[in-house]
Formats: sequence, C-alpha cells, structure tokens
Amino acid sequence: MAQRAAGRPVEFTDRQIAQLDSRLAGDVISPACPEYERARRIWNHMIDRYPAAVVRCANQSDVSIAIAFAREHDVELAVRGGGHSLAGHSVIDDGLVIDLSAMRRVVVEPDIGRVRVQGGCLLADLDRATQAFGLATPAGVMSQTGVGGLTLGGGMGWLTRKFGLTCDNLLAAQMVLADGSVVTAGARETPDLFWALRGAGANFGAVTEFEFAAHPVGTTLPVGVAMFSLEEAPSAIAHYERTMSCSTDDLKATVFLQRAVGPQDLVEVPLCVLVSVWTGDPRDARAVNEELWRGTPKLFGDLQMMPYLELQSMNDTTLAAGACNYTKGGYLGHISEACIESLVESAKLMPTTPSVIELTYQHGAQDRLEEREAAFPDRHADHTINVLTRWSDSEDGQPYIDWVRGTFAATTSWQTSGLYSNFMAVDDDHRVRDVYGEHKYEKTEGHQGQIRPGEHLRQNPNIPPSAGR
Ligand SMILES: Cc1cc2nc3c(=O)[nH]c(=O)nc-3n(C[C@H](O)[C@H](O)[C@H](O)COP(=O)(O)OP(=O)(O)OC[C@H]3O[C@@H](n4cnc5c(N)ncnc54)[C@H](O)[C@@H]3O)c2cc1C
Repeated sequence: MAQRAAGRPVEFTDRQIAQLDSRLAGDVISPACPEYERARRIWNHMIDRYPAAVVRCANQSDVSIAIAFAREHDVELAVRGGGHSLAGHSVIDDGLVIDLSAMRRVVVEPDIGRVRVQGGCLLADLDRATQAFGLATPAGVMSQTGVGGLTLGGGMGWLTRKFGLTCDNLLAAQMVLADGSVVTAGARETPDLFWALRGAGANFGAVTEFEFAAHPVGTTLPVGVAMFSLEEAPSAIAHYERTMSCSTDDLKATVFLQRAVGPQDLVEVPLCVLVSVWTGDPRDARAVNEELWRGTPKLFGDLQMMPYLELQSMNDTTLAAGACNYTKGGYLGHISEACIESLVESAKLMPTTPSVIELTYQHGAQDRLEEREAAFPDRHADHTINVLTRWSDSEDGQPYIDWVRGTFAATTSWQTSGLYSNFMAVDDDHRVRDVYGEHKYEKTEGHQGQIRPGEHLRQNPNIPPSAGR
C-alpha cells in the first residue's frame, strides 16, 4: 500500500515507483523528479495540486498497468489529455495522474473520411493531419486543447453548425475502463457506453484512441471580422441573432465583448467584435458577411481567406498556458434587449485583455440528433454564453473572479437550464446534475452501475457509480 498516515499526503516508496517504472514503456514522474513541477501543472494555474505520481504513458498497455497500480494501492486516478480542463479535472492531489500527452499518433484514412487519434492528441495534431488531405473533424477553437476532454464533454467550434459536435462525429473509441478492462466502444458493440461517452465520457476510464469522421472543407475558409463600438453593440447583436436564425448551417459566427487589441487608437477600449466563418461557396462570403454587418455603423470590417490551420490557432498566444483563469458558462434563449444591455454594462467594467464575454449561436447540424441520442445535454439550446477572465500568478485574482460572477449572474433570467461540462469552473463540481439534467444524470448513473468502472475515478464532471440505482 502507498503510505497514507492520517492527514498526511499519499506517498509511494522509491521501490514502488521503481517497480512501476520498470514495467512501463513510458515513465513515472514522482515528486522527487526534477520534471515533477512541470508535470503536475495544467493549463489553468488556478489549479495547484500535488499528485502522488504522474505516469506518462506511451501506449495502451501502460494505461492498463497504471490503472492496475492505482487500484492495487487504493489511490484515486485522474486522466490527463490536453490539460485544458478549466475546473482542474485532469490532476488530483495525492492520486495517480495518467498522463496521455506522449500518445499523440494520428492516422488519416482519406478515402473513407476517417481519422484515428491517440488519446493524448491536441487539436493541432488532429487538424494538421486531416488538413494534409483538405479534411477536418469539427473541434474547438484553440489548437492546444486536448481532443480527449473536448470530445468526451461534447466539443464545439467553427465547424459545429455544419458538421455537428465533436462527439457527434465520434465513430469508435478504444479505452481502458477504470476497472482495468480494455474495450472498443461503438454504437453496435457497446451502445450504452457509447451513448454515455458522447457527453459524459470522462466518467468511465481512459480513451487511448478515438476514431472520427473527417469532412472535406478545403484548406482555406473565408473569415469575417467586424468591430462595433459598445454603444452600437445592442443593434449589432440583435441583427446578428436575426441573421443567424435564418442563415444556412454554412455560417458560424460568434460575438465577443472584449477590449480591443488594435488598431492603436482603440487598444484596450471595450468593443463588440463579430467573427464569422463561412463553409459555403467562397464566392458568397462577401454578401453573407455584408448581410451580417448590415444596419449598424461599424469601426472596422474585413473579410479574408484564411488557412484553416491559422484559424484554429488564432487564440493560441492570447490564451497560452500558464496564467490563472476563471470562467462561467451556460446557455441563453433569445437574447433580449435587456440581456444585451446588461452584458454591455458588464463589458464597460471588464478587466484587462483577454477577459471576454462570448455569445455563440448554436443551431445547425447538432440539431439533427435527438436530445435522447447521446449523453451530451442541451444540444438544441439557442446560444452559448461564456464569460472568461485571466490574471497572472502574482496578482490577486478576486476582482477578476468577481467580475465574471457578477456578469454571469446578471444574465440569470435569460439563461435556459444547463451548463456545458467542458466550461465548468473550478467551483462548479456541485452542479453536475444541472449539467446533465435529471434524466441523463440517472441514465449515466445506471450505465455506471452496470459497467462499474470503479470508484477510483472521480476526478471529472462526476456521476458517481456508488449512487447507481
Ligand atoms: C483555452 C481553451 C479553449 C477552449 N476552447 C474550447 C472550444 O472551442 N470548444 C469547446 O467545446 N471547448 C473548449 N474548451 C473547453 C475544453 O473542451 C475542455 O477544457 C476540455 O475538457 C479540454 O480537454 P483536455 O483533454 O485538454 O483537458 P484535460 O484537462 O486533460 O481533461 C479534461 C477532462 O477530460 C478527461 N480526459 C481527457 N482526455 C481523456 C481521455 N483520453 N480519456 C478519458 N478521459 C479524458 C480528463 O480526465 C478530465 O476529466 C476550451 C478550453 C480552454 C482552456
């Protein structure tokens, strides 16, 4: 057993660590290793946890060995993909972290429009490989996010309206369940597990390989950017909502209330920025964007053909790892005038860049699945809202956190129920029932009960197996 004196952290002996290490193709990083400090940190520096060891797995067999070791020593597990969990679900105090970051192989089968990616791949790995064939799988909007967490919680990005959520494009998953068994999850092989994986997937074990559909999108897409003053934001946002609700699924657009990063005379001024991506005929892009911007005087408007890979890495510098981050997110119905006014008032008080209020129109390919077809909840919501702020390790985060909480709370009366698991904040763990809703929570609980992946995996948007009925 690992040492667990009352009130003291779990510690493995040098001998236990050496024995585990000798069985792996990868390696074990214990608190004594110089690499430990880097290995224990994830993207969000608000999360400051000390695992008993990090197992950097090289293959599926390593994952099985690490899970068996955690069970043998009765310590909790966390699985780390890209490490982008805002809530810190991929690292655990005193437990064993199964780090998949060395498992990043991608195999594309262009003839059948499929791609297989290992469980530690980042979106950059997926995108680079598929783009070599002019293909893409819908994913998120930052290239350093992990495919693992993004898919298992849903996955929304620029191609969602056209091709659905990332989890809607999942065809199969190789995984090691938290009880140590190895399964291929698929619609035919394991319908219940496959249902749960698409939205509540982090509850069951470690996915070592995902297989996705990949779609032809070409390698460049028309991207429009328009900026409006905050005074004009109500008119621009109201027109945006009207336009999106009658547009085809080829148009994806997001509203950002944020401080400007340029041009020079506007730097740090809070503005309304509208970014659009068009997947239809490029010759129609100008007219589509003119329509989206129509009726409101703008400070700036530009349309350009952008390499898809550049689009996908547009946020990499602004949102690089290493700062403290806090977010609140949910869903909105119709964005009323009063709601926009409330958001504009909050934007005026926004802390420095890159704090942001983000509104994204949702309907599209994701509506082609019925709500009951996957664990992912609220697929028919009108808009997502996400309020994010960040500050450096040396600053007092409280004023930033207060701004996010105040902004989000002010929109309560326009929020529809629910919360996107991938945007859960560090203080949202008590809201897992709100995330999934009673019916899906209980259904997942039931599948947990049947599969019994084990009590050692609780570090995720957790639906505990012990509560199975
Ligand atoms: C900068 C930034 C940008 C983002 N942009 C988007 C976006 O555009 N669209 C969107 O939908 N979301 C977005 N998100 C949210 C993102 O989807 C979640 O944070 C997601 O959980 C990240 O996955 P990860 O593998 O990087 O995270 P991790 O922190 O590694 O893991 C998150 C959860 O997934 C589990 N997990 C990860 N990989 C595996 C695996 N292979 N097998 C089993 N469990 C696994 C972990 O155990 C943990 O519970 C963004 C987040 C950040 C920080």
